[in-house]
Amino acid sequence: RFITFEGIDGAGKSTHIQFVAELIRARGQELVSSREPGGTPLGEKLREMVLHDAMHLETEALLVFASRREHIARVIEPALARGAWVISDRFTDASFAYQGGGRGLDLAKLDTLANWVHPALWPDLTILFDVPLDVARARLDATRQLDRFEQEKADFFLATRNEYLRRAAQEPQRFRVIDSTQTIEATRAQLAEIIGALP
Ligand code: C5P
Repeated sequence: RFITFEGIDGAGKSTHIQFVAELIRARGQELVSSREPGGTPLGEKLREMVLHDAMHLETEALLVFASRREHIARVIEPALARGAWVISDRFTDASFAYQGGGRGLDLAKLDTLANWVHPALWPDLTILFDVPLDVARARLDATRQLDRFEQEKADFFLATRNEYLRRAAQEPQRFRVIDSTQTIEATRAQLAEIIGALP
């Protein structure tokens, strides 16, 4: 199984991924836990560039998909082939949300890249941590330094969040949307139910 986690910065995604990893290991499953951009040595170099260097929007999209191509070939596909479960902190939905919704790249170009890089591979399940913008900003300000994306204006995150929600509404069988304003305990209970229900 291939499970991905999505949400705007400050939605609380990273807090909960570790918990889901424990739930899956408790089922006796081999688990590979990874992230994007990144997930391989080359992918991590690309991540550094994407996060810190100024570049054309299409360059940014291409680098994220280059990182993804490597991640799929070296990590995701081999793991799935031997029967392990894979969880990834972000995948292609993040490209649609950030480069598409947030920065305005033509969604048709992102469809082209997705169909090129992974024509047959999509997550079995995508967990979207959703929060209103003001809550996300307050969390980020309280916890860490902001990278160049996190310094973007509020309307960037609004458009990013809206694209995530639009995709979730389009594919309700793949997405589970979690209200990330609720307590950590309530979110954990919901995650335990979702993972417990997987065959
Ligand atoms: O998930 P994480 O917070 O580690 O992601 C790091 C940054 O990469 C985020 O600030 C996010 O805005 C950015 N990102 C992006 N485009 C993607 C994936 C991530 O701009 N496709």
